Amino acid sequence: MHNLAVGRSDTMPDINILPVKDRVTPRVVERNKTCLVNISVIARDTLKTLVVKSIPLTPQNYKEQFEKSAKSMERGHILESLPEYSGDDDISCNVNPVSLEKERVLSEMAEETRKVMTEVAGIIESLKDRSIKHNKNLDDEVKKIEDIDANNNIMEVKKLLIGELQKIKQDNTSLKQQLDNTTKDLEENKDKLEEFKKIAVMDPLTHIPNRRALDLKLLNEISRITRYGGSLSIVFIDLDHFKNINDSYGHSVGDEVLIAFASLLQSHLRDTDYAGRYGGEEFVILLPGTDREGARILAERIRSEIKKKTFMDKKKSICLKVTASFGITEHRDGDDGKIILERADSALYKAKETGRDRIEDI
Ligand code: GH3
Ligand code: MG
Ligand code: MG
Repeated sequence: MHNLAVGRSDTMPDINILPVKDRVTPRVVERNKTCLVNISVIARDTLKTLVVKSIPLTPQNYKEQFEKSAKSMERGHILESLPEYSGDDDISCNVNPVSLEKERVLSEMAEETRKVMTEVAGIIESLKDRSIKHNKNLDDEVKKIEDIDANNNIMEVKKLLIGELQKIKQDNTSLKQQLDNTTKDLEENKDKLEEFKKIAVMDPLTHIPNRRALDLKLLNEISRITRYGGSLSIVFIDLDHFKNINDSYGHSVGDEVLIAFASLLQSHLRDTDYAGRYGGEEFVILLPGTDREGARILAERIRSEIKKKTFMDKKKSICLKVTASFGITEHRDGDDGKIILERADSALYKAKETGRDRIEDI
């Protein structure tokens, strides 16, 4: 059994620092709402055009048609507000807090697109029903004509009619086939969209929410309490001397400890609590409806659980003990995400400075 202690490098977690131009003011919210309305109009036009023209619903086709639709609807300026066009860094790479508001717009856009897809799928489903009914009517008509007992002229007409009706029937069958394929494509796209949404907000190592998800959730929670009141606390957690674990046992054992810690964290939360990996060996818990005292009780429970726990590697050849330090703060009037995180981080710093394996609040 190893007890890991010694050595500290006082690295402070990177805090989101939103430049003034990217702050979320009522004007920005209003602008984004208008932007969203425009995007949803373009998205509807894009999907309808792709479906009507039987163009496969691939991301590339969607992108190209989205541009065409935006331009033809004289809403080309919307493209400028999307990350790819505004020259931002790749949003799938490192967290880019500056584009937080844009991400919110993007995630709402994804939700809007999903709604449109569901709508289109509904239309297609009803078209399919009609086509089946239509086919049945045609079958009945064909049968009636076949039953006519008359002279040759009528026989000629009958032949023609049957030919025509059968052609229509064939057309209908192929239309139904097309609709089936389109429905399948739409379903696949809906699944992909859901998958993308999950990946964008999940930490790939621990499978808990990532920093992006935490930032978005924090933004939403602050908007909520600003509007409706209520409390919100934040717990910033940093594993103590984590570097020593990597140095002593290797990075993969370090990874296993992070995974085990994330799962311990999750097991201590209520449904309304929200925990994520902020980066490296740092985790954040958002506690809506919880005051500073409540947050301290939860943090103390987690702190003592970690201290008690013996972490084991997969091969069960290494047992090690880990401790963590906690910084707590409660939302105050006027706090934005940056301020509240900075304060929780200062509390965490104090916990580190005063000996680690402890909880401090500000
Ligand atoms: P302190 O008590 O002051 O927090 O010390 P510390 O060693 O925990 O802090 P420090 O910032 O010096 O080191 C953090 C270490 O966390 C260094 C880095 O290699 C490690 N780390 C960050 N992300 C990962 C990861 O995904 N996997 C592993 N195994 N290690 C990681
Ligand atoms: Mg750290
Ligand atoms: Mg640490």
